[in-house]
Formats: sequence, structure tokens, C-alpha cells
Amino acid sequence: MPKRLIVAIDGPAGSGKSTSAKLVAQKLNYLYIDTGAMYRAVTYLAMEKNVLQNTDAAIEIAKDSDISLKFIDGITHVWVDGNDITDKIRTPEVNGNVSEISKIKEVREVLVKKQQEYASRNGGVVMEGRDIGTVVLPNADVKIFLNASIEERAKRRTKEFEEKGIHVPLNEVEINIRQRDKIDSTRDVSPLVKALDAVEVDTSKITIEQQVEIILDLIKKAQEKK
Ligand code: C5P
Repeated sequence: MPKRLIVAIDGPAGSGKSTSAKLVAQKLNYLYIDTGAMYRAVTYLAMEKNVLQNTDAAIEIAKDSDISLKFIDGITHVWVDGNDITDKIRTPEVNGNVSEISKIKEVREVLVKKQQEYASRNGGVVMEGRDIGTVVLPNADVKIFLNASIEERAKRRTKEFEEKGIHVPLNEVEINIRQRDKIDSTRDVSPLVKALDAVEVDTSKITIEQQVEIILDLIKKAQEKK
């Protein structure tokens, strides 16, 4: 039996992280954790309570809310205190606010702890986000940093919205992604950077199947070394 590994996938919005991480996890029967969903959940709750500008209130929300993730039929379902908020966290409004909430050190501390707990309870894990290889799971067996051109990433996100019946012009999606990239990469706490030991893959011109193949191959090589 090949050893079950810890796989960290980082990269900016639209780089192909979620799609390929899900498929890799399904193929290997590993646990799949979408950490962005947790930052989105805290953001959605802060919006609901009208406290987006209030850092202390956002920290309280992160500390007091019981956020749980479950991957069912290809979708990461998110519950907060027993309520399913899956459909509410992937809206243009949450996209517009999530990076400001993710900048808050104490919010990150609470969520990183939960993420590390998920990984420690399971043999095989694929976790994706912005700081997985650098901060959350620095000892991951395989670290991958996915990237793609801004034009391609904006096109992918616009298509995803269209498929859900949400119509957002391509240029608006691109502006949001640029803003998030900027805030996520320049924040003081756990910025989006490639871990020194991560393998970078540019997904601009390759298919999802090719991305999955590359990742599976890296996992296989890491298993052979174990
Ligand atoms: O991956 P996704 O686009 O859903 O992430 C939404 C936002 O959550 C990111 O733009 C970033 O601000 C934040 N995030 C983060 N650290 C992670 C995952 C997501 O700061 N590990």
C-alpha cells in the first residue's frame, strides 16, 4: 500500500487549485480541505452582522462560530453552528470583502488551528489555500504552487459564476481578482507566496486533466522516496 501523504496546494484565485485538488483527493481517496471556504464563512457572517469594519467583532465571529466543512458530491459544504451556508459564501459580495477579513492575524490563528486539526486526524489529505505550504502544513510531503495568467484566471471565474446563474462582467471579475491578489500577497501575516520547496506549475495553457496528472505524479514520486 502506498503511504498516504499530506499534500499542500497554494496559489491565487482561479489558478485551478480547487478543481485539481478535489480531483486528486477523490482519485486517492484523501480528505479534501478548501481553506478559502473558512475565510469566506467568517466574511459572510461579518457581512450578515454588519461588522465588516470591526476587527474585534470579526475575531469574535471566528472564535465563537462552529465552522465545519464536509466534501459531498464534488462540493465543499460549509456549516456554521448547524446552518448550511454553502451557497452564500461564493458570491461577488463575499469575494469583494474576504481579503480584508483574511488579513486579520487573530482570525487566521483560529482558522489555521482548525485546519491543522483536520490534517492531523487523517492519513491522506489534500489541503488548498494561500499559506498551506508555508504556514499551515510546513512539513507537507508534497507542496505545489499553481499559477496562471490574470486573463485566464478571470475567464475561469467568470465562467464559474455564469454556470451558477450569476452574471458578472469579465472586467469586474478581473478587477476583483487583481485586488485580492494584491491584498493577499502583501499582507503582513502569512502572505500568498510560494514556499521555497514548492513545485510551481503554470496552468494557463494546460487542461485540468494535465494538472491532475502532474500533481499525481509528484505524489507518486514522493511516495517512492518514503
Ligand atoms: O481560495 P478562495 O478564492 O476561496 O479564497 C478566498 C480568500 O480567502 C482569498 O482571496 C484569501 O483572502 C483568503 N484565504 C487565505 N488563506 C487561505 C485561503 C484563503 O487568506 N489559506
